[in-house]
Amino acid sequence: MTSSTSSAEETRALGGRLAEGLEPGDVVLVSGELGAGKTTLIRGACRALGVTEPVTSPTFTIGQRYAGRVPVSHLDLYRLADLGTEDPALLADYLEPGSIAFVEWPEIGGAEPTLEAAGKVIAVEIRHAGGDAREVIVRG
Ligand code: ADP
Ligand code: MG
Repeated sequence: MTSSTSSAEETRALGGRLAEGLEPGDVVLVSGELGAGKTTLIRGACRALGVTEPVTSPTFTIGQRYAGRVPVSHLDLYRLADLGTEDPALLADYLEPGSIAFVEWPEIGGAEPTLEAAGKVIAVEIRHAGGDAREVIVRG
């Protein structure tokens, strides 16, 4: 499914609608270049899941955990490329059956073995479409 948004608010709302279909164990892979709106979409999804704390891209850690109506994990694998061979257990803590997980920069890789045990895996791609316009493609 492809949607167009014309503001950060619309992308947050889209994230919120996406969250409605999620259950513990599900993983949402969110790709797109820097500033595309990955964190913005995840913020909207987290709000819809009852997360009230700030939702920002994890910078100094690979991920963070939020307390929503269900536990929510937010991973950003961008820095994983620098970390070399990471301990798969690091990801397993976030991608666990009781949590809904959002992963920025999934194309960096490293999460595949953990994803095999996941519930639904949904892939979201966000593309710049000029100015504040974005194209959001949801697969799965
Ligand atoms: P990423 O996590 O992909 O690097 P962010 O969500 O952190 O991106 O940042 C996206 C930036 O683009 C924010 O400053 C946001 O306000 C802005 N923005 C403008 N238009 C949109 C839109 N349609 N959807 C999402 N973000 C938008
Ligand atoms: Mg981000």
